[in-house]
Amino acid sequence: MTTDILKVRNLKQYFPIKGGILGRKVNDVKAVDDISFEVQEGETLSIVGESGCGKSTTGRAILRLDEPTEGEVDFQGQDLLALSKKDMRRKRKDLQIIFQDPYASINPRQTVRQILSEAMEIQDVLPKDKREARIKDLMKTVGLGEHQIDRFPHEFSGGQRQRIGIARALSVDPKMIICDESVSALDVSIQAQVLNLLKKLQRDFNLTYLFISHDLGVVRHISDRVLVMYLGKIVEIADKKSLFDNPKHPYTKTLLSAIPVPDPTKKKEQIVLKGDVPSPIDPPTGCRFHTRCPFATDKCVTDNPELRNNDSLMKDGHRAACHYIEEIESGEMKPNY
Ligand code: SF4
Repeated sequence: MTTDILKVRNLKQYFPIKGGILGRKVNDVKAVDDISFEVQEGETLSIVGESGCGKSTTGRAILRLDEPTEGEVDFQGQDLLALSKKDMRRKRKDLQIIFQDPYASINPRQTVRQILSEAMEIQDVLPKDKREARIKDLMKTVGLGEHQIDRFPHEFSGGQRQRIGIARALSVDPKMIICDESVSALDVSIQAQVLNLLKKLQRDFNLTYLFISHDLGVVRHISDRVLVMYLGKIVEIADKKSLFDNPKHPYTKTLLSAIPVPDPTKKKEQIVLKGDVPSPIDPPTGCRFHTRCPFATDKCVTDNPELRNNDSLMKDGHRAACHYIEEIESGEMKPNY
């Protein structure tokens, strides 16, 4: 039986735009607009989408690094949005984050020993006399040497710095880690090493990951389930195999068509979308994808499609937000490229 470790309900993250002489709010950037999903204990749920789709904002809102505008974030049965700031800081012991650029999130004037011991001290993880052994253990766990404990972040490569970020997240014994573009800045070979390390740590410590990335190749490697976002909304969610083998939303199909095929004898048609991503300040009415969708009809301009399943076409748990899943699948509707 699977247990949900995290339940996000109707989450909204609007950022006010101020204007005029009095600096009053004139509009909002609707970065995340009413999304709901669950993360099961021990799984990796990835969130993918183009830049500006709201995926990183979702991660930050869950952790309250930016205070969400509305919604519920239930983590291990506790509503995080109802916690005081002090209790939320304590809760971050169980729910950690690893950023894209570890250099920006660690103090360059601290050695690795200081970085790791500070994290444990803030969360009161172990008695002081036990921390030294734990630091050595963490270094080994993430594939760094004991002899590197007293080095500063600038003395490490990008991949090694990301390992320090992982060690810092692990130092407080979390249950879940949000990986926000955590391998995006690394070379491909180093990316693979860090991804394999994350997978091993997940097995060893029964960790749950919310993995945020724009890179579908990476997502395919690490995920159990995948959630696709477009302009602040969820457009599709499914287990990895269903999403990659049997995508149902036209936007997901477009994203997948852009992944290079390693076999040069196999040709794949790349779907090129028309236009740019619209502004999240004034997003399109109805289906937000209608301004770029090759199947859009008048209904798409006015009616917001619900995330839904069709059990004869999609596996259990696979849902897509499109009015015309069946018509597109049967070929009854043709794309208007
Ligand atoms: Fe395209 Fe309409 Fe489906 Fe949106 S609802 S994805 S615009 S066909």
